[in-house]
Amino acid sequence: MTKTIEKAPKPLTQENKNFPIFNELANKEHEQIVICSDPDTGLKAIIAIHNTTLGPALGGTRMWNYETEEAAIKDVLRLSRGMTYKAAISGLNLGGGKAVIIGDPHTEKTEALFRSFGRFVDGLGGRYITAEDVGMTEKEMEWIYSETKYVTGIPKALGGSGNPSPVTAYGVYMGVKACAQKAYGNDSLEGKKIALQGAGNVASYFARHAAKEGAELFICDIYDEKAKTLAEEVGGKLVDPNSIYGLDVDIFTPCALGGVINDDTMDEFKCDIIAGGANNVLDEEDKHGQMLLDKGIIYAPDYVINAGGIINIASELEGYNEKRAMQNAGNIYTTITDILNYSEEHGIPAHKASNDLAEKRIETVGKIKNKYSSNASISGRLGGVYKRFND
Ligand code: NAD
Repeated sequence: MTKTIEKAPKPLTQENKNFPIFNELANKEHEQIVICSDPDTGLKAIIAIHNTTLGPALGGTRMWNYETEEAAIKDVLRLSRGMTYKAAISGLNLGGGKAVIIGDPHTEKTEALFRSFGRFVDGLGGRYITAEDVGMTEKEMEWIYSETKYVTGIPKALGGSGNPSPVTAYGVYMGVKACAQKAYGNDSLEGKKIALQGAGNVASYFARHAAKEGAELFICDIYDEKAKTLAEEVGGKLVDPNSIYGLDVDIFTPCALGGVINDDTMDEFKCDIIAGGANNVLDEEDKHGQMLLDKGIIYAPDYVINAGGIINIASELEGYNEKRAMQNAGNIYTTITDILNYSEEHGIPAHKASNDLAEKRIETVGKIKNKYSSNASISGRLGGVYKRFND
């Protein structure tokens, strides 16, 4: 239907000028958000692009039954910003983005909805590259992929990288070793007592690496059977999930859920190191990060040590090679070492050190982009780096 503009829009009032969405974007320095609406399929999605200084914004799509639209916007802004830091500290040529689809992941999934979403992603022409996140499965990613090439983390059968957990776990293992080097002057895990929270994907692969090196593992899961099976496989001990924080161990490796370093657990820890795969482990980042520093516990920032997942899907963009993805995840050792040294030098918590180093990389790499490059001018920010999109 053709719409006629009957009169010129009203000038902005002070109230309109302060429309909170622009304040939100400006506060956390986001570049763009895209509201995707398709009533025919029921699609309601929001794509947030936080920062593309280092490259196209990469981040998963989450499907969640948000209570309000505001909650969805806040979540996508928070998550996309986190992706900028994660990509930057991991040395990737990628920016930070994220998408959320508002809806019940158990009852509202249809082929048309995800294909419609794929078209919106495609319309961004590669400024945003999506991947799987909470509430999504391979099936939906395949639907999205049928409408856009700007998808990563696709199944192996389609030429993608498949399950990221082995690479994530290897990165966690190398990050734990970097912490051991800092704490003990030796990165061997032989004879080290490790409390492992969770016996899922990441925990299981991690446990195999650590056990092979001679670590003594204490394993728990809310599903006892899972923990028992893993403990038997790696020669570890089964422990109660409620007693995991206070165990007399060298290392605590959270691989289950977020928020586990909090006011209630803080006094229980007797370990020298906290380093694991779980996301958002500090309940209140600044408060609990500082408390760990004050207690003299070495902490590997979660988003750095668990970056094997994003490193894996970033490798896919260059033409996936598992060996190379593992090697890149192995670099988490050096990244964690740099962060711990910076944290010590500046007397600041590790998560702050990591944020500082990520911002420095964005700033310094951003500056070199002021210079003319024929490569950049021909193929834009993808600049020949991402083979898959240039084929
Ligand atoms: P998973 O679901 O395979 O494993 C999680 C395990 O934790 C499950 O077995 C679950 O029963 C257990 N668990 C839940 N609550 C628990 C509790 N209170 N105490 C003990 N065990 C509990 O998940 P995963 O893929 O192994 O991921 C683990 C963590 O790592 C998550 O926080 C995830 O966000 C993060 N992470 C995973 C990847 C990846 O590649 N899979 C990448 C980055 C971050």
